[in-house]
Amino acid sequence: MNYKGLKISIIGAVRSGVAAAKLAKRLGAVPFVSDTAEEEKIAQNLVMLNSEGIAFESGGHSGKVFDCDLLVTSPGVPSDSEVLTKAKSLGIKIISELEFASSVCKGNVIAVTGTNGKTTTTALFAHVINNCGGKAYTAGNIGRAFSEIALNVSEDEYVSLEVSSFQLDFIERFKPKFATILNITPDHLDRYGNDINNYINSKKRISENQDEKDFYISNDDDELTRIIYSNATQYAFSIKNKVSNGAYSHDGKIFFVSDNKFDHVCDTSDLSIKGEHNLYNALPVVITAKIIGFENDLIKKGLSTFPGVEHRLEFVREIDGVKYINDSKATNVDSVWYALRSFEDPIILILGGKDKGNDYNQIKELVKNRVKKIYAIGSSSKKVFDFFSEFVDTEIVDTLENCVKRSLGDREEGDIVLLSPACASFDMFENYEHRGRVFKEAVNNL
Ligand code: ADP
Repeated sequence: MNYKGLKISIIGAVRSGVAAAKLAKRLGAVPFVSDTAEEEKIAQNLVMLNSEGIAFESGGHSGKVFDCDLLVTSPGVPSDSEVLTKAKSLGIKIISELEFASSVCKGNVIAVTGTNGKTTTTALFAHVINNCGGKAYTAGNIGRAFSEIALNVSEDEYVSLEVSSFQLDFIERFKPKFATILNITPDHLDRYGNDINNYINSKKRISENQDEKDFYISNDDDELTRIIYSNATQYAFSIKNKVSNGAYSHDGKIFFVSDNKFDHVCDTSDLSIKGEHNLYNALPVVITAKIIGFENDLIKKGLSTFPGVEHRLEFVREIDGVKYINDSKATNVDSVWYALRSFEDPIILILGGKDKGNDYNQIKELVKNRVKKIYAIGSSSKKVFDFFSEFVDTEIVDTLENCVKRSLGDREEGDIVLLSPACASFDMFENYEHRGRVFKEAVNNL
């Protein structure tokens, strides 16, 4: 695609918007960046744009936005926002930053989407490929925008791309070599008119431009992803059943199956990241690594040396035989379900924050069986207390730091103190990373 001389308006002056603007400039286009945020809030980004000589506006979208040949939107901008609705009505072509970056990237894209596990799996893909002697970059929602690296990736290299459904809302030709939808559970439904079908249709788009030379990898155990049909060569993964084409685990062993040949790649105990959910995250990586043609020994080494990702069931410290685990990224009930299943020992659980319409029935039995105490925090602490206090010792605690302090009185050797809040963090913290850091600091201060 040739963007030379095109006027490109970019909505959003945060990470991906700024990266898209810089990329547009490198491609010889004329970018203009517009954001509703006030100047003070995005000052650093504006300084960066300024230093690149890129025009921008903040505090709202003026008519100048619509004076363009193409509009590139950032993932945070809702598809029904006023600015995009108006651009549509004016017949302006709108694409996401993902579409823009991928249209100029020569490398092989491995696209990962799903409700949970995207970041972990994206990082694991890159780690394993790099350990097997290939070259893979990570990009997308994982700390670096695709536009930042799109031009650096050569034809024999890989980009492991974390893709949110929002980015898929404005694709046109996005055609990953490998695509996987890890799982689909109701999250962010508010952005899809509370209709799960809209959410599924949006995720499904990850594969819509693939053909038989590409690979679509689906989760056979997830009823919502299993049924998705793709034109690509299809592989599946399961931890419950054997699959005829793909990867599955059985009796602690991980197999890859293709053309009726069963290949024992490694064992589940080889995975450095623990828990059933992480097995789900590893299987699509095994499939991809095998399709690329890497040796089992190298794949195994990659899987066993993966350091994990911060704030996802992250081990913080062991004190007096008690392990402290930071799972601040668990912002929905489903993640907590997997977190609770990842430990055999009694759990002291820190739960609560900004509620997203949580239904705690999903974890009721698990909590009954595995949790000895709950500290309820944040704006939803009363909801947590009302639901759980009937069957587990539950206490409302004012701050996260005080939860950590209180654990000293409640814990016994062998316990796990787990921050896995099932809620967003914005009622008490800047974001989930901030929440995780506060927890770790409190633990390290004990
Ligand atoms: P995402 O990027 O999709 O939000 P992360 O890898 O950041 O996913 O993990 C988010 C939360 O979900 C963490 O609490 C993590 O332990 C949990 N998790 C990771 N993988 C899965 C999975 N496959 N299914 C359910 N929960 C998962």
